[in-house]
Amino acid sequence: VSSENQPTRSEVSVAGVPIGGDHMTVVAGPCAVETPEQTLAAAQMAKAAGAALLRGGAYKPRTSPYAFQGLGETGLKILSDVRTETGLPIVTEVVDAADVDLVAGYADMLQIGTRNMQNFALLQAAGEAGRPVLLKRGMNATIEEWLMAAEYIAQRGNLDIVLCERGIRTFEKATRNTLDISAVPVAQSLSHLPVIVDPSHSGGKRELVLPLSRAAIAAGADGVIVDVHPTPETALCDGPQALVGGDIAELARVAETLPPLL
Ligand code: PEP
Repeated sequence: VSSENQPTRSEVSVAGVPIGGDHMTVVAGPCAVETPEQTLAAAQMAKAAGAALLRGGAYKPRTSPYAFQGLGETGLKILSDVRTETGLPIVTEVVDAADVDLVAGYADMLQIGTRNMQNFALLQAAGEAGRPVLLKRGMNATIEEWLMAAEYIAQRGNLDIVLCERGIRTFEKATRNTLDISAVPVAQSLSHLPVIVDPSHSGGKRELVLPLSRAAIAAGADGVIVDVHPTPETALCDGPQALVGGDIAELARVAETLPPLL
């Protein structure tokens, strides 16, 4: 995935939706798939915000084993129905190598989360699944380790990889994680892969999502992936960081008014 092997920047197609190249791609949706109604409402919010892809977790890698773990295949079926209804291709996380084929049967793009960035068996299985992969940066990973994780996928013949900076662990407690904005241009110079930013899981607070999205776009990110929820106060996962209805027009404005190649 090194820029030494390919000097031009890659464009990854997710069911026809481009990420990278000259595009600024917005991915949005609920952190977790909870019900058909909630997922459809969140997808409609995502569409109104200009999102071209729907995110939503059916398998949730939670810190606590007592927290909502996701609906599993039922959640994948809900995502598939919502894709039919809205036309938005699906990005969804897979947490276990044994589930890769099942998830790939529903998903348009596989997400590998921060906690699994160095789960090498999962990376290899994702590399063989025939789907583009969104690879989040490990919260404790250096950029080099992140790119090496991408090599595990690429080595299995899959170069349709998008990197996602989602914040790293620092001493700072005012934010959930510290968005390493410098990772965007650094990763883009070391690698030809597109790099997007998750302002929701980095900031961890709704009021930080739009400023961090602007920062990501200004830094040259190829897109953002944003949590939205119709009723965040009842969300089973990460409600405080989800954008609500009133934020959607502003997210659309952020994505539209800032050109991708600043
Ligand atoms: C997510 O995007 O749903 C998620 C759990 O993100 P991360 O792996 O970055 O924490």
